[in-house]
Amino acid sequence: MKTDTLYRGSLCKDQYRFFAAETTTIVQTARDLHDLAPLPSILMGRLLTAAALMSGELKAPKSELSLRVEGDGALKGGIALADKEGNLKGYAFEPQLWLEPPSENFLVGKNLGQGILTIMKQSGLKAPYSGTIELVDAEIANDLAHYYLQSEQLPTAVNLGVLIDPSARIRSAGGFIIQQLPFADTAIAKKLNDNLMNTPNVSDLMDMGLGIMDILKQFVFKDIEWKQSNQTPLYYYCNCSKERFARALLLLGEKELSELPDGISPVCHYCNKEYHFSGEEIQELIQALQEQK
Ligand SMILES: [Zn+2]
Repeated sequence: MKTDTLYRGSLCKDQYRFFAAETTTIVQTARDLHDLAPLPSILMGRLLTAAALMSGELKAPKSELSLRVEGDGALKGGIALADKEGNLKGYAFEPQLWLEPPSENFLVGKNLGQGILTIMKQSGLKAPYSGTIELVDAEIANDLAHYYLQSEQLPTAVNLGVLIDPSARIRSAGGFIIQQLPFADTAIAKKLNDNLMNTPNVSDLMDMGLGIMDILKQFVFKDIEWKQSNQTPLYYYCNCSKERFARALLLLGEKELSELPDGISPVCHYCNKEYHFSGEEIQELIQALQEQK
């Protein structure tokens, strides 16, 4: 399968910056790993693409961010994580949701309902940052634009596209973020807005074989000076390990652990890998806790 890519760049001598991503392989991987039904596939496609785009801002080594959306509708929500190295992972809260009539299974906003979007950023150096907004239309792109304006005072255009066919194959996924930086010429914003209005559906264009940068070049950046600064690969990758799960089990404490004489087999939410801890291994964890005292 083709490797996904994140592109970074700027417009008009750094008055605006942009991030663009092709995420078809990542979204297909998430769909297959979690056996996602169409509606949660589209939701996760948008969340993973948004996380990929936002990861373009991460600067410190080992920094990471997450987007978590929670709604009161049948779709409930999902979470996507991205790190500076371009590793993405996520899961949906209702992975196998199927609604009747079938046309409902394309309506993310309606079936997510009212709720919140929470963004967390962790750089390892600074204290973790967290920002929450109420969902605007629960279609994710507008919600993310609202988050940027409200929490970071950055006027932002967000476009997220996921196209899925009836056999649950992801035909295309990708998107872009364009941000107006302080002291930008607002006449360029008007030109950009006009161009965005005249841009056909991004996932349809990608399905026709256009790369995300072709789309930006031909439609969104038409008659606007722009420059790509770099491009880096994106992957679906989960960094879970038995050690991480052991650390999580230790947090349960002695009493809870002593109630697991036959062991336990926790499953990773992000990649569905199962880790088995036998009764003896649980005993070892209890011993480790006792030795810490
Ligand atoms: Zn995992």
